[in-house]
Amino acid sequence: MKQIAVIGGGAAGMMAALAAAKQGCRVTIYEKNEKLGKKIYITGKGRCNVTNNCDMDVLFDSVVTNKRFLYSAFYGFANQDVMDLIEQAGCPLKTERGGRVFPQSDKSSDIISALSRLLREFQVEICLKEPVKSLIIEEGICRGLILERQNRKIEADGVIVAAGGLSYPTTGSDGDGYRFAEEAGHQVTELRPALVPFTTEETVVKELQGLALKNIEISLCRGKKEIYHDFGEMLFTHFGVSGPVLLSASSYGAKELKKGPLTLTIDLKPALTMEQLDARILRDFDEAKNKQFKNSLNKLLPSKMIPVIVERSGIAPEKPVNEITKQERKHLAETVKCFSLTINGLRGFNEAIITQGGVQVKEINPSTMESKKIKKLYFAGEVLDLDAVTGGFNLQIAWSTGYLAGLSAAECVE
Ligand SMILES: Cc1cc2nc3c(=O)[nH]c(=O)nc-3n(C[C@H](O)[C@H](O)[C@H](O)COP(=O)(O)OP(=O)(O)OC[C@H]3O[C@@H](n4cnc5c(N)ncnc54)[C@H](O)[C@@H]3O)c2cc1C
Repeated sequence: MKQIAVIGGGAAGMMAALAAAKQGCRVTIYEKNEKLGKKIYITGKGRCNVTNNCDMDVLFDSVVTNKRFLYSAFYGFANQDVMDLIEQAGCPLKTERGGRVFPQSDKSSDIISALSRLLREFQVEICLKEPVKSLIIEEGICRGLILERQNRKIEADGVIVAAGGLSYPTTGSDGDGYRFAEEAGHQVTELRPALVPFTTEETVVKELQGLALKNIEISLCRGKKEIYHDFGEMLFTHFGVSGPVLLSASSYGAKELKKGPLTLTIDLKPALTMEQLDARILRDFDEAKNKQFKNSLNKLLPSKMIPVIVERSGIAPEKPVNEITKQERKHLAETVKCFSLTINGLRGFNEAIITQGGVQVKEINPSTMESKKIKKLYFAGEVLDLDAVTGGFNLQIAWSTGYLAGLSAAECVE
């Protein structure tokens, strides 16, 4: 019976183990943590956005880096396959806004339990608190691995590296997978935190800290070149900006930021044209004729935003509303529709949902996930140079590449 060793008991490792075990292999997972799926536990704010219930085009379009590499993995084990597998394992799912799929219970632990049940059913051996030290490679073939504990040698017919990336290192993924890859002669591309909040040059964000804005439109630019455009929700923090649209923007902005700061423009009223907004302001001013300017914007803007917009508008805060000129009103509308901030950096790996960069995919066979350099060595999940926007797509990458690596290690892929 074929022996398969899987390094890492996260999403990719569990799925790889399951796929290989289903083909009749004897599979062992070596996980350095005291339990499986420590990162899955904290995904989706503890609810686990397990995948996205979208069509294949959207699945591919949501991948930021190396989407073409995922062709076989996605078609071989798609979002629907993940949903079927998890539901059949006794964890009913539901689809929310934007196709995001969650367990009906809203508990990520139910996803981990369902997968653990399957692993038990297929007799996968799980070795917890068992960090792997290195791979055993002889004459271009991976023959097994060495455990940190007592340098124990484990022989295997195939080894799957599913050790994750660098993000949220407290969950166990602290870069060992990249080390294994480099020791096997693989190139690891530059590693950057992604799906991570931005820092801004302007300290005004401190005044806005905690303010969440819904239905805003953002545009991230380097000079005149637009890098990312989106519509949705955002959050101001003491250091800058965060929230769904900005996390997604960070995946596109990370590389660009290396060349210098970027401009973020926020349209606070995207549903209104400049003319419609002017008409709306005029109406509000009409109702607040005898008030000072600073007290006339309550209907238009959240209260935390008012002093900031008042200052940026250039209109004196105490100016009576009925004395505001057409020109000043126009400038106010522009300030509301083009609220700009200078993005000067990203927060670190401790706050990043994923790592951008990883094992160079040119050196991995996309039809099998096997290394092109070392036989019987496979890679899956975040350790690879693959990443996607939020919405369940990163876990889907882990499930799909894990499944394909497991099948291939069991030599079931032609
Ligand atoms: C806060 C947060 C929320 C997220 N929410 C979502 C979401 O809702 N939806 C979504 O799609 N994605 C989400 N993600 C991203 C998603 O969690 C990752 O893309 C996914 O977990 C990657 O799976 P993986 O198996 O490749 O790596 P990991 O889940 O990181 O698993 C790697 C495992 O390998 C183990 N390991 C590492 N080195 C060794 C070693 N030397 N020996 C033994 N074991 C080792 C680690 O302990 C770890 O358990 C989120 C990420 C974070 C941080």
